[in-house]
Amino acid sequence: MKRYSVFAVAREAARYHTGWERAWKSPEPKKKYDVIIIGAGGHGLATAYYLGKNFGIRNVAILEKGWLGGGNTGRNTTIIRSNYLQDPSAAIYEKSRSLYEDLSQDLNYNIMFSPRGVMMLAQTEHEVRGYLRTAHANALQGVETRFIKPDEVKKLVPIINIDGPRYPVLGALWQPRGGTARHDAVAWGYARACSDMGMDVIQKCEVTGVRQEGGRVVGVDTNRGAIDCDKLGIVVAGHSGVLAEMAGFRLPIESVALQALVSEPIKPCMDVVVMANTVHGYMSQSDKGEMVIGGGADGYNNYTQRGSFHHIEETVRALIETFPMISRLKMLRQWGGIVDMTGDRSPILSKTPLENCFINCGWGTGGFKAIPGSGWGFAELMAKGSSPLCDEFSMFRFREGKFIDESVAAGVAH
Ligand SMILES: Cc1cc2nc3c(=O)[nH]c(=O)nc-3n(C[C@H](O)[C@H](O)[C@H](O)COP(=O)(O)OP(=O)(O)OC[C@H]3O[C@@H](n4cnc5c(N)ncnc54)[C@H](O)[C@@H]3O)c2cc1C
Repeated sequence: MKRYSVFAVAREAARYHTGWERAWKSPEPKKKYDVIIIGAGGHGLATAYYLGKNFGIRNVAILEKGWLGGGNTGRNTTIIRSNYLQDPSAAIYEKSRSLYEDLSQDLNYNIMFSPRGVMMLAQTEHEVRGYLRTAHANALQGVETRFIKPDEVKKLVPIINIDGPRYPVLGALWQPRGGTARHDAVAWGYARACSDMGMDVIQKCEVTGVRQEGGRVVGVDTNRGAIDCDKLGIVVAGHSGVLAEMAGFRLPIESVALQALVSEPIKPCMDVVVMANTVHGYMSQSDKGEMVIGGGADGYNNYTQRGSFHHIEETVRALIETFPMISRLKMLRQWGGIVDMTGDRSPILSKTPLENCFINCGWGTGGFKAIPGSGWGFAELMAKGSSPLCDEFSMFRFREGKFIDESVAAGVAH
């Protein structure tokens, strides 16, 4: 595949852009692969990429029932941070954040990583104590964060109201190298790199059954016929419970809708990401000028990619309290995704009761930031049977009571 570069852009400009080749191929499924990954979201594609790059396993198919990145990967608000409380979480999220730093160069695809800084507001005494604790934990884990005072918050975000009537801003947990990236580009960049390594990225290919013999996986049934494999990775986020049932085991996962919305574009007014977890809303400004806004998950299980209206109202109300100037904005679009939540709000990267079948899920409301790190670790787990990044995130931790509890510490897990 030809490399993208400034020279390629100049060359194509001179010949009216007639020479660009397709970014990835659209092959027919083969009869058998060494590895099949179900789900071409960011986590599935990153897993395939690092299987090829780090372990030389390239006879791989990534099967996607819809289109590339059409699940949560293309629907999220793209916040990237790694200031989690527990050691295993900090390790995988920080690995991920550091891979994001030069992912564009690695993939030869501009994923528009923007380390503009992420701020989590402390608006109650409880949050202040919680974030001070996280800042100390992060110092021990080698994650660069610090707790900042209200005057520094105001300096970084002049449009914020720090003397809010209900919840004044008492400080914030600040991660200067957190930020955002372009979500579609992350999926497209990994897909292009996988295709370039000879892997088959197959869209509109829905897995309808998992075939097994003698307790080990031997292949999958799809709407395009049966395909054999030696190893299977299930990476389907909100549909994890459905695929697990096909493979014959149960997961401690609930699927709920989480939604986001964007405003009309306005002039640059905020160059960091702000999360207000007590009033429950978060906001950043896109390169186009739209304010990108996210809120809470629905309080009931569902498989709709919509989200409920009362959450939009709650989220916007919360943000108007924190940023009064947005009360004049018109909202342009709203959408939802199906997120996969575990009880301890930490992911599952694990072997399963079915031999040679692995599962990567449970990223809930916060897995975009983890895509490169999760792919790195999960590829190692699939190739070698164990990975220091993943071993603590086994699905069997729920049976053994070894929770990695981020639910209280992280406020919201975005
Ligand atoms: C509104 C919203 C805001 C969010 N904001 C953030 C944020 O700011 N920061 C952050 O870090 N995270 C955020 N997240 C979470 C993040 O988007 C997800 O954790 C992450 O994208 C999950 O990626 P994935 O690859 O596991 O899943 P997905 O991208 O959902 O990919 C799974 C794929 O599997 C496919 N699939 C399902 N069943 C089958 C089948 N039977 N056969 C074949 N394919 C199948 C689906 O079509 C889908 O494409 C947000 C999520 C939402 C919905």
